[in-house]
Amino acid sequence: MLLEGKTALVTGSTSGIGLAVARGLAAEGAKVMLNGFGDAGAIEATRADIESLGVAVGFDGADLTQPEAIERLVRRTADTLGPIDILVNNAGMQHVAPVDQFPVEKWNQILALNLTAAFHTIRLALPDMKARGWGRIINTASAHSLVASPNKSAYVAAKHGIAGLTKTVALEVAQAGITVNCISPGYVWTPLVENQIPDTMRARGLTREAVMNDVLLAAQPTKQFVTVDQVAALALFLCRDEAAAITGANLSMDGGWTAQ
Ligand code: NAD
Repeated sequence: MLLEGKTALVTGSTSGIGLAVARGLAAEGAKVMLNGFGDAGAIEATRADIESLGVAVGFDGADLTQPEAIERLVRRTADTLGPIDILVNNAGMQHVAPVDQFPVEKWNQILALNLTAAFHTIRLALPDMKARGWGRIINTASAHSLVASPNKSAYVAAKHGIAGLTKTVALEVAQAGITVNCISPGYVWTPLVENQIPDTMRARGLTREAVMNDVLLAAQPTKQFVTVDQVAALALFLCRDEAAAITGANLSMDGGWTAQ
């Protein structure tokens, strides 16, 4: 199997894109540390389900807005599953409000989770990758790492930031056998998207259908949501040896959104 013996940490993998990526990595033989929030019973069922693919699967509910929790998560992954070979920085959140009404604590939380958490996981995981001369760092950015939308100041700022972090780290480790890339999906059908519909309905005075067709998919020329399995397939490709020359890239998967 492609990733037999490798260890992967996938942040924000109790749901949505992260869960699909974690499942994909495990199906290729990687040991996986899951992370995220949710109902304890449902998370344990997910963990056991992925483990039934025949690999060791752990779970750590670290709150990634807390640097000390990130340090514990990385240490626990290495101690229980082995040093991290594949790091997927995926956990993220959204809040929608005009910038002059944007709650300060939401700004701080979004920057901490969507950007600063990746700085911490990367700085903590890199020494082991360098020591073994192989590594894959995959950051889930967004079309919002390339273009903006109104009322998403914190999210757009954080996603532009992670695209810059990706490029910088890629250059720093370019000769160390480690690639660093981000995947930038357009709208993917996940709880994160579903949950922002009520806020957008309120902010813009629209119906649910109008938000879906005229706001969310308005910029996505295919008029189709991206699927979590499509994102997972690209992440898996980046783990292959054939992808060794892809580094520092911001890979759009957005139904043509940012081609406009
Ligand atoms: P999701 O809400 O389904 O999953 C988010 C995950 O992050 C969950 O596992 C959640 O428990 C976890 N999480 C939230 N806060 C956390 C915290 N403080 N500490 C640790 N984990 C935490 O969302 P998703 O759509 O799968 O999003 C995953 C990533 O993809 C995010 O970075 C998001 O910005 C990005 N993205 C999503 C879309 C989309 O349309 N869904 C588009 C582009 C980019």
